[in-house]
Amino acid sequence: MAKNNNMFCSFCGRSQAEVNKLISNPNADSFICEDCLVICMDMVKEEKRKDNTIPAIDLPSPQEIKAKLDEYIIGQDEAKKVLSVAVYNHYKRINYNFGVDKGDEIELEKSNVLMIGPTGCGKTLLAKTLARILKVPFATADATTITEAGYVGDDVETVLLKLIQNAEFDIKKAERGIIYIDEIDKICKKSQNTSITRDVSGEGVQQALLKILEGTIASVPPQGGRKFPNQEMFQIDTTNILFICGGAFVGLEKIVGSRTGNAIGFNAMVTDQNKVNELIKDLQPGDLVKAGLIPEFVGRLPVVVGLHGLDHSALKNILVQPKNALTKQYKKMFDLDGVELEFTEGSIDAVSDKALKLNTGARGLRTILEDSMLPIMYETPSNKLIKKITITDEVISRNAPPEVELEEELEASAI
Ligand code: ADP
Repeated sequence: MAKNNNMFCSFCGRSQAEVNKLISNPNADSFICEDCLVICMDMVKEEKRKDNTIPAIDLPSPQEIKAKLDEYIIGQDEAKKVLSVAVYNHYKRINYNFGVDKGDEIELEKSNVLMIGPTGCGKTLLAKTLARILKVPFATADATTITEAGYVGDDVETVLLKLIQNAEFDIKKAERGIIYIDEIDKICKKSQNTSITRDVSGEGVQQALLKILEGTIASVPPQGGRKFPNQEMFQIDTTNILFICGGAFVGLEKIVGSRTGNAIGFNAMVTDQNKVNELIKDLQPGDLVKAGLIPEFVGRLPVVVGLHGLDHSALKNILVQPKNALTKQYKKMFDLDGVELEFTEGSIDAVSDKALKLNTGARGLRTILEDSMLPIMYETPSNKLIKKITITDEVISRNAPPEVELEEELEASAI
């Protein structure tokens, strides 16, 4: 279609012939060209960046937060309740401290959270889902990869950089984000141990993390890693970032037990939330100090919650119930190829059996399913006749082929 020379960009005055694209308003009586549109967008972005006022976070009630968590996370009721309240209070505090109607002088202090529970029981998932519910930026860090400044490894600033990146470089947004630090028990002081290795990942890292947990203005190099002279830094205030730490703390029960005479484990075998609650009830800050956390660090984690290990039935539920359960994801993937996918009850049982043996909680579920599904996912897209695939327990337990229903023959046969 020939370009019309009677239409002009209302901003730069160029005709349609001179520009790439000309966009009209609904009445088609004024126009803006692509170049001017880009300039306007940049101006708006820049204004937003300069604008220091940040809107209050739209805060659901603790019960609403918990109900949302229920959609994605199986079990861990106690943790969900404690976290819902902690997160609610945290953002209520931010809205209050920054609020225009802040009348009296009471400054609300933040409460970071410590989650104690075995591998693969949903600690990271809980933290991530909370951030999603509240629509705040989120970053995870593995405490074992963080090193004291000066050693080779990630600085604590790298963790902040991840958060800034996830906030699309909007520092104000990042300053209200959530950071989950995993494996916090692995940076416990080892002085109680007989280990002769240098304690690079112990107290020094706790000290470094403590600074950002307490609240500091950190200078973050845009590239991560080492700082270079003259490099422009992001300045980020960590006062309002919510830190959630997690760890398995194997052996903590012995420390608590030796004080109370009541020894229950915080390991994969404790699948009973009541027992975990008992232990948390008995837990005192001094026990965490004995486990190797420095007192100041423990002091910065006033909310402690215990998570239970996942039993067979929890693992089964995880496979089918959550909004984005693994089996639902596979079904969707096959559906996109026009194939119906079904998992028998026996196959779900078999995956859970295998995962339980791995002793890594729900972490093993995906690996087990990926292994069994790979040959099927490899072959199915090439066979347009396949109408339905049924995954049986045999597929999982001994890599047998699945039951396949073909478009024309409509009868079961093996691939
Ligand atoms: P952790 O941080 O406790 O080691 P994760 O939260 O990383 O464990 O869990 C690993 C994977 O297992 C997650 O991606 C999630 O899909 C699944 N998962 C673990 N626990 C649960 C749970 N309680 N409910 C639903 N899925 C879970």
